[in-house]
Amino acid sequence: MTAARIPDNEDRRLESLARYHIVDTLAEQAYDDIAQIASQICGTNIALVSFVDEKRQWFKAKVGIDLSETPRDIAFCAHAILDPENLMLVRDAPEDVRFADNPFVNSAPYIRFYAGAPLVASDGAALGTLCVIDYQPRVLSDMQLDMLRALSRQVVAQLELRRALFELNQHVRERAAYEERLEAYQRKLESINALLEADSQTDKLTGLSNRRHFDEVLTEEFDRAKKRGRPLSLLLLDIDRFKALNDSFGHSVGDEALKHVSRLLEENKRLPDFVARYGGEEFAVILPGTDEEGAEILAERIRKGIQNASWSHRPVTVSIGVCTYRVSDHSPMQLVSTADEALYRAKSGGRNRVERCHLD
Ligand code: GH3
Ligand code: MG
Ligand code: MG
Repeated sequence: MTAARIPDNEDRRLESLARYHIVDTLAEQAYDDIAQIASQICGTNIALVSFVDEKRQWFKAKVGIDLSETPRDIAFCAHAILDPENLMLVRDAPEDVRFADNPFVNSAPYIRFYAGAPLVASDGAALGTLCVIDYQPRVLSDMQLDMLRALSRQVVAQLELRRALFELNQHVRERAAYEERLEAYQRKLESINALLEADSQTDKLTGLSNRRHFDEVLTEEFDRAKKRGRPLSLLLLDIDRFKALNDSFGHSVGDEALKHVSRLLEENKRLPDFVARYGGEEFAVILPGTDEEGAEILAERIRKGIQNASWSHRPVTVSIGVCTYRVSDHSPMQLVSTADEALYRAKSGGRNRVERCHLD
């Protein structure tokens, strides 16, 4: 017995076979049908769709035999793939030196006749055969040989469809995974942007909104008040003699006082109110929907609350300027400058007091 030599292009051939993902799959009607037709047309006991793998031949479809694979070194098909262009015919195996002492020939099932049409993939690799086998020496007509070749091409057509479908599914999966990654990046980017935005709007020391955020919110609230004819008030607060606190007890005590005032403002604000650190030791509170009277009451409450809070080194007080939006105000900045005027009066009036802006 002569084992078939290994084809020159074996590595490439095995890679090609692997790309079809066919070996060790379940039986499929399309391949079974082709094997059935081949055995009928050629009038043989056996027909196989066989793939020559590294160490074995494996049958995708089989008619008349119950094996699913055999070792490669006794496979007729391993010889047939050596000549991809031509169908291999073994008229009577015991007469052929390659097969005379093959165990399938000199013992059961006593193969005598073999005809195998190579399954040639689109890249030229012979992956296996469509073969017919009989227990008698046989001769096939030209028509039968042509049909066997035609059917072998049908097997390859099935294989190409299979690979296209496999690759399509793979692309779909890759695309889905890519889209998922993209969405995850997007979500991450959005959360980073949200953090950055929050960061750019927040005062580091107190955690309150900063001047920049204050300007945005004041403009929004100003426009809303104007549009809806609703009142809008603004408090500007300035810590009294804060420089002296810093000078006497150090900057960190000053910082603690700033944080404490911030907390008190946050605690005293109502839901729609907006508190910001306006500058060094200055704070602003926007009061949407609050009229002059309400704003002044709130300002007084804040002033007393700060005065009566417990302070580690020295009592802290604030002066507050209150201003309420009037139809004659043209801009948010006008509201701020009038509140600032009121604050100035609170300072010059003795500090630790609330002053409201004068009506025109
Ligand atoms: P007035 O009653 O007139 O408001 O007097 P004042 O001392 O509070 O006002 P002044 O404007 O003279 O001083 C404000 C001080 O606030 C000066 C500045 O060093 C201090 N300051 C500004 N920002 C900070 C800060 O973040 N931390 C600390 N500790 N001090 C600050
Ligand atoms: Mg100041
Ligand atoms: Mg001050």
